[in-house]
Amino acid sequence: MNDTPSVAARIRDVKAQIADAAEKAGRRETDIRLLAVSKFHPASAVEQAIAAGHRDFGENRVQEAAGKYPLLKDRFPDLRLHLIGPLQTNKVRDAVALFDVIETLDRPKLAGALARERDKTGQCPDLLVQINTGEEPQKAGISPVTADEFIRKTSGTMGLPVVGVMCIPPVEDDPAPHFALLAEVARRHDLEVISMGMSADFEEAIYQGSTEVRLGTAIFGSRPDR
Ligand SMILES: *Cc1c(COP(=O)(O)O)cnc(C)c1O
Repeated sequence: MNDTPSVAARIRDVKAQIADAAEKAGRRETDIRLLAVSKFHPASAVEQAIAAGHRDFGENRVQEAAGKYPLLKDRFPDLRLHLIGPLQTNKVRDAVALFDVIETLDRPKLAGALARERDKTGQCPDLLVQINTGEEPQKAGISPVTADEFIRKTSGTMGLPVVGVMCIPPVEDDPAPHFALLAEVARRHDLEVISMGMSADFEEAIYQGSTEVRLGTAIFGSRPDR
C-alpha cells in the first residue's frame, strides 16, 4: 500500500475545500477557478492532473514552462497555461506564444513590450496586473499607490487586455487585509479576475472574494529540489 495521495485525490480534496469555503462565504464554487501550480514538478505530474480532468495550470518561469508544456498543449488544446512569475522583457515573445494568461504585468516597461508584441503578432494573452500589496522592496508588483493609474493606462490608453489583478501577500503578514485591498482594486476597475490565495491561505482568499486560487503544494505535494 502506498499511502501518498494521488494527484487526482488531492484535486478532489482541494475542490471540496474550495466548495466549503465558497459556501461559508455565500459564494458559488463555480466562480472560483483552481489553478494547479506545477513549477518544479515534471510533465508526468501534470499529466496526472490532466487525466483527472484538470485543465488550468500555473508556472512561474517561461523557460521551465517551455520545456514542459508545448507537447501537452498540442495534445490537450483546451489546456490553459498561466504565467505567475516575473516576466523579463527579453522573454516577452516566448511568453506571448506559450501562455494563455500572464498574471504578472507589473511595470510600464513590460506593458510597452507586450503592446509591441501584440502590434507585431496580433496576439496578446489575457493579462492580470500584479499588485505588491505589502509594498515589499524585493517583491515584484506595482505599488498600490500607483495601481489605479497603471490599470487605467494599460487597459485604457494602451488597449491591453487587462482582465484582473493578482497578489502574493508578505509571508509574515495576516493575508486578509492584503486580499481585501486587492479585491477593492478589482471592484474599482470592474475587473473580473482576482487571483489570490495559495495552499496555506486559499480559504481566507475565497472569503475575501478570490476568483482564482493558485495551489501547488496542496495538489502536487512538496516541491522537489533542483
Ligand atoms: C509557487 C506559487 C504558488 C503555489 O504555492 P503553494 O504554496 O505551493 O500553493 C502560487 N502562486 C505563486 C505566484 C507561486 O509562485
